[in-house]
Amino acid sequence: MSDDAVRLHSLTRRYGSGGTSVTALDDVSLAFPRGTFTAVMGPSGSGKSTLLQCAAGLDRPTSGSVTVGGTELTGLSETGLTLLRRDRIGFVFQAFNLLTALTAEQNVALPLRLAGRRPKKAHVREVLHQVGLGDRAGHRPTELSGGQQQRVALARALITRPDVLFGDEPTGALDSRTGREVLTLLRGMADRNGQTIIMVTHDPVAASFADRVVFLVDGRVNGELLGASAAAVAAHLTELEAAPC
Ligand code: ADP
Repeated sequence: MSDDAVRLHSLTRRYGSGGTSVTALDDVSLAFPRGTFTAVMGPSGSGKSTLLQCAAGLDRPTSGSVTVGGTELTGLSETGLTLLRRDRIGFVFQAFNLLTALTAEQNVALPLRLAGRRPKKAHVREVLHQVGLGDRAGHRPTELSGGQQQRVALARALITRPDVLFGDEPTGALDSRTGREVLTLLRGMADRNGQTIIMVTHDPVAASFADRVVFLVDGRVNGELLGASAAAVAAHLTELEAAPC
């Protein structure tokens, strides 16, 4: 059994065909060890979302392979992919995507209900407590701040105890203080629970919470930084954006 929660091998994703085709990812190989927190950065159009979608089994690569927890995704049927996503993967997005008619507690319990499992109240409460919302279980999203709503979304992603959590700009809609609170929670998920976090971000401060920052340019990996400060990440991004195409 490998110690990598996710592995991308020679991942290529092309959209369209012939003269108008776009290569969004071009032969990307990356490993994400268990319990680590990786940020993925790069200019707009560099392939970050495509990487996340392919790694999470939401999109299929043109060639190459994705392995999640030892299971190769390319060999799975749509049903197999759905089950794998349901059981092993969590997502948080920039938009919180909470159901406004439901309370925090009901939103968090939803993935279990959708999977046909009966949520245990104590478990739901415990996960809400973990994200600092133990006293907000009965509130609806409109009664919560943006940071609190994102924490509900995080609790909803955590309720199934996923091995891997994918974040697509999870702090993009938050002010810097609440953004930091959410990032601290993500950091804790890696450190305390051994969960693996893969997060796309534009924000060097958000990236500085990660163990590693991987940079993409034109669909290819263009370097990485380990344990970098926000200033070091920002400097590297400036260099990338100044480099001639
Ligand atoms: P990023 O997230 O870094 O902004 P994306 O992964 O969204 O980059 O896009 C990478 C490239 O692939 C871009 O050139 C984009 O226009 C193209 N692309 C993404 N999705 C599609 C699609 N569904 N159809 C055609 N081209 C796409």
